[in-house]
Amino acid sequence: MNDAHNGKLIGQANDISSLVEKQKRFFSEGRTLSLEFRKEQLSRLKAAVKTYEQEILDALYADLNKAADEAFMTEIGLLYTEINEAIKRLRKWAKPKKVRTPLLFFGAKSYIMPEPYGTVLVIAPWNYPFQLAIAPIIGAIAAGNTVIVKPSELTPRVSAVLAKLFKSAFDPAFAAAVEGDVEASRALLAQPFDYIFFTGSVAVGRTVMESAAKRLIPVTLELGGKSPCIVHRDANLKLAAKRIAYGKLMNAGQTCVAPDYLLVHEAVKAEFVKALKDAFREFYGDNPIESERYGKIVNERHFDRVIGYLEGGGTVAHGGRYDRGKLKIEPTLIENVTWEQPVMQDEIFGPILPILTYDRIDEVINAVNERPKPLALYLFTADGAIERDVLGRISFGGGCVNDTLMHLGTSNLPFGGVGESGMGSYHGKFSFDTFSHRKSVLKQTTRFDLAMRYPSDKSRIGLL
Ligand code: NAD
Repeated sequence: MNDAHNGKLIGQANDISSLVEKQKRFFSEGRTLSLEFRKEQLSRLKAAVKTYEQEILDALYADLNKAADEAFMTEIGLLYTEINEAIKRLRKWAKPKKVRTPLLFFGAKSYIMPEPYGTVLVIAPWNYPFQLAIAPIIGAIAAGNTVIVKPSELTPRVSAVLAKLFKSAFDPAFAAAVEGDVEASRALLAQPFDYIFFTGSVAVGRTVMESAAKRLIPVTLELGGKSPCIVHRDANLKLAAKRIAYGKLMNAGQTCVAPDYLLVHEAVKAEFVKALKDAFREFYGDNPIESERYGKIVNERHFDRVIGYLEGGGTVAHGGRYDRGKLKIEPTLIENVTWEQPVMQDEIFGPILPILTYDRIDEVINAVNERPKPLALYLFTADGAIERDVLGRISFGGGCVNDTLMHLGTSNLPFGGVGESGMGSYHGKFSFDTFSHRKSVLKQTTRFDLAMRYPSDKSRIGLL
């Protein structure tokens, strides 16, 4: 590292430190405690997203080749719904909640007061670079925090729009975006934040938690992993194929909750694979690499990582072609796969779908339970007993029966992982709860007192 680089890093760290200080001061002035203030900031956020909508879509196309309709649905539309809900329900969410008090404390009242943590840090990944930067912030603002977001450096166009949007909408002492790479992230993690919300890989999640532990900063970790997709023999195969192809190929497989691999009942494998190939063709034609609508891999490093799986064993049953210049890889099915091959060891994060088969559902349950708890799980079946067995015996973050991805689309369901796929959750009211400390208060009466609660040499029963 040369002196100029060192100097730049020190300069950035100083800027970050003074920004955090400003935000802490802003928070301590108590301005974010007003619900009107929070609603006003949420409205500003919504207006700013609207103003920059076209620039956001252009940036998503440049960084990831996201088609405008897909980008709107997965990166922008969802945010409007979340902001509207937060504005509409904020009063109710923020109201102290009265709870029962045991008879022992006769005369007292108990309630839970949600209070903001203070100044929070949101670190975002590149795969849904706009949505995953803004969605947590909605909860952070609704709950009354000040917030700094660090967008991913791998999607620079989106990162630049985010920075512009924040500058135009907010006083940086309240909400700001800090652009930059791992160094910026590290400099931020060294600051005395009151809460850290991280979305990204398991490995970096671990680093974030380690650094937060030094200051005992609470964290939410939205991580990844391998999400299984089970197709039972009684499933509606055509429908299952379409819904799985949709979930796998969105953003070229670079979705944290994409079906990572398939577990298909032996008896229906051939028919299901045919239906899956038909669905791939229906969505992106015979030459998906040339399709304007088909996403690209974010950069060469990830491209090389993903095509590496093609060499790692198994038989390509469909697709397998790629174009490094365009960073595109065809929707690809791999058969004859074993659990030991690289494609079954790491999260694939690309349009490659390995297929394993099973005979009894117990085999599936045991195999999944032997591995880290998945972020998502998908099951296609019409059999209630199979559904109960799988949902009851496998631990996973969230998922769908007879669909993929859709559990993310409803703010009534908390979204998050478990075990290695993460901790904590958000969306809708769950976002507000994530960014709020629940302060417990017991308010005692002064109208009377119970003598028996105090130490005494004599036995004293009754009222004072
Ligand atoms: P990543 O962990 O490499 O990076 C995420 C963020 O952390 C980026 O902003 C990056 O700059 C920063 N970062 C990277 N290395 C760091 C370090 N050593 N110290 C501090 N900060 C660091 O993840 P990614 O490649 O951007 O995203 C892909 C991963 O994220 C996949 O595993 C995917 O499953 C997961 N993901 C999870 C969710 C979810 O909601 N659970 C959503 C999207 C992506």
